[in-house]
Amino acid sequence: MKVEILGCSGGMGAEQYTTCYRVNDHILLDAGTGLGKLTHDEQLKIKHIFITHSHMDHICFLPLLIDNLFEHLEEPLQVYALPEVLETLRVHIFNWEIWPDFSTLPNDKTPVVKFNAITPHKPLTIEDLTFTAFPVEHIVPTCGYHLVDQQGKSLAFTGDTTFGPEVLKELNKLGKLDVLMTECAFPNRLDELAKLAKHLTPSLLDKFIHALDKSPKQIWLSHLKPSQTEEIKGELAQLNLDTQVRLLESGELLAV
Ligand SMILES: [Zn+2]
Ligand SMILES: [Zn+2]
Repeated sequence: MKVEILGCSGGMGAEQYTTCYRVNDHILLDAGTGLGKLTHDEQLKIKHIFITHSHMDHICFLPLLIDNLFEHLEEPLQVYALPEVLETLRVHIFNWEIWPDFSTLPNDKTPVVKFNAITPHKPLTIEDLTFTAFPVEHIVPTCGYHLVDQQGKSLAFTGDTTFGPEVLKELNKLGKLDVLMTECAFPNRLDELAKLAKHLTPSLLDKFIHALDKSPKQIWLSHLKPSQTEEIKGELAQLNLDTQVRLLESGELLAV
């Protein structure tokens, strides 16, 4: 599978875009500001979007994408998320005040977008990939996604999470991963804040990786806060992990 890093930053800034990954041309993981890098033609090719949670940095360009596609789509854009996340989007975003409820436009029978509630641990096959949601540990309802292709290559994307027994149990169930794509939002000195906001620091990441039954072949890291990026990178460089760690950068096209 190929994964294009459209946005992987924990905030905004010059050449910094928030969480959005394109998988094999037609699928997105999250819809942060990185989505704005796609051309109109590329936007038209997106058929499926998997959302991890309702935080702004992961959904902010979803309403704008739907509006862009409104005149052009023949089939509804399929959006997948936990039921709690869909409810939050409906109440707070697609409520006719912030943005129209496009799941009823132009009419209920042929809407421009369809919101699909996903059930954790229940696989969904799209094109050549199987997607299975799994719970993680963040401050609002959040799931990660486990992607497996027909060759058996696997990637787990945690979305935003801290380290705790639940997410550890979930990742251990997935077995040996080719790629673990996770976050490292804060430097170690903001450990308290990271635990409150349920994110990772280099030190928490270190504990997390060492606690896994099987080390992933590669770890891809994202969501570093722009103002603390250098500090976090310095701390990550000190870690002693027996697996390849890559700091994601917007614009990269990676193969799993
Ligand atoms: Zn979040
Ligand atoms: Zn986030």
